[in-house]
Amino acid sequence: MTHLAPISGNEPRYALSPASTSLTPLFSPSKPQPLTDNFSRQLTYLRLSITDFCNFRCEYCLPDGYQGKPPEGELTVAEIATLVRGFAQVGTVKVRITGGEPSIRRDVVDIIKTIKQTPGIETVAMTSNGYKLGKHLASWQAAGLNQINISMDSFDAKVFHKMTGFDMLPQLLSDMDTLLETTDIKLKINSILMAETAYENLINAIDYVKQRPVTYRFIEFMQTSDNSELFFAQHAQSDMISHYLLQQGWQPHARGSAGGPAIEYSHADYLGRIGIIAPYAAHFCDSCNRLRVSSQGKVHLCLFDQGNYDIREHLRADDVAGLVKSLHSFMPIKPEHHYLHEANSGMMSNLSLIGG
Ligand code: SAM
Ligand code: SF4
Repeated sequence: MTHLAPISGNEPRYALSPASTSLTPLFSPSKPQPLTDNFSRQLTYLRLSITDFCNFRCEYCLPDGYQGKPPEGELTVAEIATLVRGFAQVGTVKVRITGGEPSIRRDVVDIIKTIKQTPGIETVAMTSNGYKLGKHLASWQAAGLNQINISMDSFDAKVFHKMTGFDMLPQLLSDMDTLLETTDIKLKINSILMAETAYENLINAIDYVKQRPVTYRFIEFMQTSDNSELFFAQHAQSDMISHYLLQQGWQPHARGSAGGPAIEYSHADYLGRIGIIAPYAAHFCDSCNRLRVSSQGKVHLCLFDQGNYDIREHLRADDVAGLVKSLHSFMPIKPEHHYLHEANSGMMSNLSLIGG
């Protein structure tokens, strides 16, 4: 039987005790093994938050905006280089930069370049509110960005303003069209599924993807300790979207093992797709392929875990071997699933803390 024993310092809170020495070693110093957790899930996708700070005030995330000054001590480009080298050695092929709002960081172009140049990394993606999209699009493309997910919760400028605190929907729509016309960056749009806006958003989204090769994804609203009131007022299940799409002749596609958590629907008459992310659905976590790292260098084994694990020492010391060893030691304790259905979002009081 495997025993978990607490240990201290910057190591994970639990590591395999000597009672487990009869198991196959998790780590071989000569050739790092891919990261695989106790549920046979291979972890090939890193979501890296590069700042907690955000300029928006999305009503479901940071309704009063980011409080205080932008945080100090965010991971440096050199630390990110070490981090990604370590992750690449254990099988990571895709890195998503997120936040807070990642495009707020002045060195975001260097960060994209650094990740892109790391051997083994095939895809660099970013999730952004799009505030700086127009200004920085060309430099992101030149740095090697492959994919961008833009959060856009409404096609109605007034609703967008109310939901985010920013009156910039026409600019954002125009910047996204420029992206489609002038770059080969793959575009997806994320929107929170809210009872009040769902139907109108769906009709507009279907119209939007008719001539555009874009996936518009509805994400079920997740409850955190900061947003319970709005959650109870607005949470809607995604069945209403899937029923409508099926009725209209849209075809669902199975979630691929390397793909994201969305079920995507396509239609012969439409260039783009409609996607659904339903974190409350049964078996949602079965195909989890990701680990998260915060902008302060802490590993989150699940978005809604109760704790996190500090790997900053390895990053400061450019200690890739130490990092790889720590990552392997986390594998026995990656949770099987979240507990959102029990209204338990762990330490995540809002999603700006680690990037959704
Ligand atoms: N600021 C960037 C943005 O908005 O795209 C990146 C960080 S944001 C936390 C990442 C994603 O999480 C966004 O698409 C956002 O809509 C989503 N999100 C935030 N709070 C959420 C919640 N309570 N439920 C579901 N998705 C949420
Ligand atoms: Fe900022 Fe993104 Fe949260 Fe909106 S969802 S407040 S843009 S971190």
